Amino acid sequence: MPEPGELVFDAPRRGKAPRHLMDLSAAERKAAVVELGLPAFRADQVSRQWLGRLSDDPSTWTDVPEPVRDVISGALLPQLLTGVRTIDCDNGTTVKSVWRLHDGALVESVLMRYPDRATICISSQAGCGMNCPFCATGQAGLTRNLSTAEIVEQVLAGARALDRGEVAGGPGRVSNVVFMGMGEPLANYSAVIGAVRRLISPAPDGLGMSARGVTVSTVGLVPRMQQLAGEGLAVTLAVSLHAPDDNLRDTLVPVNTRWPVSEVLGAAWEYADRTGRRVSIEYALIKGINDQTWRADLLADLVEGQLVHVNLIPLNPTPGSIWTASTIQDERAFVATLKRRGVPVTVRDTRGRDIDGACGQLAAAQG
Ligand code: SAH
Repeated sequence: MPEPGELVFDAPRRGKAPRHLMDLSAAERKAAVVELGLPAFRADQVSRQWLGRLSDDPSTWTDVPEPVRDVISGALLPQLLTGVRTIDCDNGTTVKSVWRLHDGALVESVLMRYPDRATICISSQAGCGMNCPFCATGQAGLTRNLSTAEIVEQVLAGARALDRGEVAGGPGRVSNVVFMGMGEPLANYSAVIGAVRRLISPAPDGLGMSARGVTVSTVGLVPRMQQLAGEGLAVTLAVSLHAPDDNLRDTLVPVNTRWPVSEVLGAAWEYADRTGRRVSIEYALIKGINDQTWRADLLADLVEGQLVHVNLIPLNPTPGSIWTASTIQDERAFVATLKRRGVPVTVRDTRGRDIDGACGQLAAAQG
């Protein structure tokens, strides 16, 4: 692995990632292999190795002749992610990885292992253009969109590490993927949809994950939410609301000035209607800003009776932030208000906080 300091010497050539096997659907993989002058079935063999066996070392692909391995890896398997460092906490069950992309851009992913599941939080963009003032990624601005393969490879890196028993708790599998790392997934729509398809397509065409185990989180890009509802994907949609009133939300999630609360929630209910999936409403509790019980009541007015779940996130303060997490009393009062109104609510755990790997703390692009 390179030293982090090495990055200083990289002339950042910002650009699209080279084409990779994981950018391609199963049919496109066949076509690409044929284009290389090889029989189409080689694509299936390679997919079985890459996705089925999680084997990224062509020298172990005994069912594929060596010259074929060389041609395919030369043309379709460029190394997209280079590990810069990994940092763990929670006794090794939370692991943050910092990746350098081909053009020097940095992104992060976080693997969180629980007794019954393993969740990987991945990035869809290097940086983010949404500019939410409480989020570390938002402060650095957008560098670029990730390609489908750059997104999928973050999941595969976690899946390989778990499969090989490199994560505390013994060998395991990734059960959940959340697009809650760096970036606004719906602002990189087609690459994200491609990645979701790769994750949920049955093995060996894809990773064979359950769609409901995949969560796409958005600030509320209404036209894209509507488009997502029509994809027939049944992934979980999370909406970062953070305030029930436009006045406050305009400042916390600036894109609210374009699509206000009523339109965002309208699109959320449409998503629930069309997919039958419960929508998750994300709400970071910020002391003295959005944590009043009257706002909990206002939130309940907006969501009660809908197919919804409210996920409260204690704010993870970012460097230089004037804001901090709500007091435990205010958090409890907020939860109690929602519960009294019959709104399903949970408070998210704060895994990864001490490695700057918790929600809103991913900011590799700042160096
Ligand atoms: N752009 C997408 C996904 C990335 S962030 C979105 O906004 O939904 C994933 C979640 O973490 C979002 O709900 C985001 O608002 C929240 N978040 C960002 N910064 C945070 C912070 N400092 N503390 C707690 N949650 C934060």
